[in-house]
This record gives sequence, structure tokens and C-alpha cells, in this order.
Amino acid sequence: MVSWGIRYAASLDGIITVLSGMSSLSQMEENLSFMRDFMPLTDEEQTVIRRAQDALNKGTSIPCTSCHYCVEGCPMSIPIPEIFAVANRQHKNEGFRQVREYNIATIGKGKASDCVQCGQCESACPQHLGIIDYLKQCAEHFEK
Ligand code: SF4
Ligand code: SF4
Repeated sequence: MVSWGIRYAASLDGIITVLSGMSSLSQMEENLSFMRDFMPLTDEEQTVIRRAQDALNKGTSIPCTSCHYCVEGCPMSIPIPEIFAVANRQHKNEGFRQVREYNIATIGKGKASDCVQCGQCESACPQHLGIIDYLKQCAEHFEK
């Protein structure tokens, strides 16, 4: 998945540099391994990606990448990405209420309903997610 992601970006017209977040030497070595002799995505691979995009766009899952940039400054210590991960699993399971997983994810931390809407998390989120609204939905779903 990593190589496809970077090769997808590098295959776009006009791209001369792809910035990839890396947090270890092994990740850097992995990135270098498929960029050293770069091969753009083939037409067949592009088709697979378009099909995956279509499948993902049909869902209503929260497009959180779990980067955790939003978490550090939250005054209520709400585990935002973990809550969204539970919500997304709930979506995939088509209605099975993952209340137990939600309760485990929030043990000793803030609940979705504890959000005071300060907006810190939204200004930190590189995906520009409407975190406050998503948390309201999660509170409604998992805490009622
Ligand atoms: S808006 Fe809510 S979730 Fe976001 S930082 Fe403030 S209290 Fe935390
Ligand atoms: S900053 Fe945005 S994308 Fe990153 S973990 Fe938080 S909600 Fe998810």
C-alpha cells in the first residue's frame, strides 16, 4: 500500500517531488527501494486504484489517517483517532454497535460527549475533518 501511494503521487503530471512522512530508518529504506528505479503506475494499476476510490466513496466512513496531530492539544484528552477507528469499524460491520470497543478506546480518557468545541483539533487536522461534528455523531451513537 505504501509503494502504491507514493507511486500514485509520483505518477501525476507535473510532479517533481513527493514528500512522504517517515518515522524510522526502515520506512526510509522502503521508500527508497521503490523510488530508486521509479516505475509510474501502469494503466492496469490505475484502474485498480479508481475501483478502490469508487468503493471508498460509496461508504460514509470518516477519512481519518490516524496521524494523531489533533490529540496533543485536546483539553479533554479525547482519543479522537481511536474513536473514529471504532466508528469506521462500526460502519463496515453494517450496524453492529461497537459500544464495547468504544468504551475500551476511551477508558481513562475523554468521551466524545466531553468535547467542549474549542476547535484546536480541527485547526491541527491535515485532512481538514469536521472533527467536532463527527464526535457529536459518535457520542450520539455510542453513548446513548
Ligand atoms: S474541539 Fe473537542 S475534541 Fe477538539 S480539541 Fe477541543 S475539546 Fe478536544
Ligand atoms: S488530525 Fe485529523 S486525520 Fe489526524 S488523527 Fe486527528 S482527526 Fe485523524
